[in-house]
Amino acid sequence: MGRLMVDRMSANERSNQMRLIKSKNTKPELLVRRLCRQLGYKGYRLHRKDLHGKPDIAFIGKKQAIFVHGCFWHGHDCHGKVRMPKTRQDYWLPKISRNKARDEECLALLKEEGWKVLVVWECETKKPDALVAKLEAFLSG
Ligand SMILES: [Zn+2]
Repeated sequence: MGRLMVDRMSANERSNQMRLIKSKNTKPELLVRRLCRQLGYKGYRLHRKDLHGKPDIAFIGKKQAIFVHGCFWHGHDCHGKVRMPKTRQDYWLPKISRNKARDEECLALLKEEGWKVLVVWECETKKPDALVAKLEAFLSG
């Protein structure tokens, strides 16, 4: 019984993680878009398939791309509120390390093609003031 409860909880936890990290148009993503608009940067495109890694936000003409990364899924070392599920680490850990490797590869490819790339972490969206400054520095560059 106790065993079952634990498994059920971690299944819920996993599905919450999945919702948080896998879907497009997540809350952190929507916040970053809103901040861009508020800063006056409006002409962005979303999830362009023809760009490496399908950046969440891309300003095509200026070759600026922004990725909004969930801390769990992309393996951010922030020790934030996102907890590693205790079960099936053999499933999660390789997946996360594959994601990290792919993220690095996409960033490198974009930069090779002359793009400027900014990564915004989910945990940074909890401090909007600092995030606005970071976005403004990037977008005005
Ligand atoms: Zn983080």
